[in-house]
Amino acid sequence: DRGRLSRLRHTPAVTLDGQKVELLANIEMPEDAPAAVKAGAVGVGLFRSEFLFMGRRKLPDEEEQFLAYLRAVQGMEGLPVTIRTIDVGADKPLDESLRDVAHLNPALGLRAIRWSLADPAMFLTQLRAILRAAAHGPVSMLIPMLAHASEIRQTLALIDFARTELDNRGVAHGPVKIGAMIEIPAAALTLKIFLKYFDFLSLGTNDLIQYTLAIDRADESVAHLYDPLHPAVLRLVADTIAECNRQGKMVSVCGEMAGDVAMTRLLLGLGLRCFSMHPAQILAVKQEVLRADTTRLAPWAAQVVDADDPAALLGG
Ligand code: PEP
Ligand code: MG
Repeated sequence: DRGRLSRLRHTPAVTLDGQKVELLANIEMPEDAPAAVKAGAVGVGLFRSEFLFMGRRKLPDEEEQFLAYLRAVQGMEGLPVTIRTIDVGADKPLDESLRDVAHLNPALGLRAIRWSLADPAMFLTQLRAILRAAAHGPVSMLIPMLAHASEIRQTLALIDFARTELDNRGVAHGPVKIGAMIEIPAAALTLKIFLKYFDFLSLGTNDLIQYTLAIDRADESVAHLYDPLHPAVLRLVADTIAECNRQGKMVSVCGEMAGDVAMTRLLLGLGLRCFSMHPAQILAVKQEVLRADTTRLAPWAAQVVDADDPAALLGG
């Protein structure tokens, strides 16, 4: 089957009814980029930059980060790269020696953008490195775990400040599109604020499920309740996609849901046209896209979202 799938590498991802679909890769290190290109990804939808920071005693400085982002950009051979700013905390801890406080509940604590805004010098270092990499290819910036308008404003102000710092130093930098992860229910429920400030949005379904259902995504004892098809999760996903499409705002899904072939038809039916996933899933998802007819899937997907037991309908 792998052999048959590999023939789809250069086939454009278009549905039977002519809808173009973008299949992007999630990567953790710059070295993953060539495999993403090889798998037929048309770009990187999520570079989890925190992996550059984990498992080490000293955080990477601006130059080291710049070189890492540059390697990812070069590895993608001109295809767009979306770099997510650091998302440490919870299931992605920093080295013990770098943690000054023992957090009670890291998933609800100083994680991701909260951590970045609590340490502006560290955050500015990363922002400058990303802006510098953007001088060498198409780069977008993605901000994790936003929930408050005040966090959005602080983040955008720091991005502007990082640009000014580079200008003052006479260092080259490039333009970036700026996007937000929609992965906290509060963000999905106040989407109009995010639509106002950002160039694109990306649904982080891994965390959206965790925070909607109050299920720790890393806790085996409740793993059976971690349900991507819970009607509450589907409602948030469906409404976010629909509202973005209404406003002509780019939206993707970059959580595990995007790489699950059992979910492809549902997401297409809900109007999703951009999926970001582990490179190993791209060809299998593409095969689903090639077989799909979104004019038929749309009414069916609306029924699935409204059902008491969406999983029961998913086979149809
Ligand atoms: C997500 O939450 O769905 C996501 C893509 O980010 P991460 O899994 O890195 O938290
Ligand atoms: Mg997440």
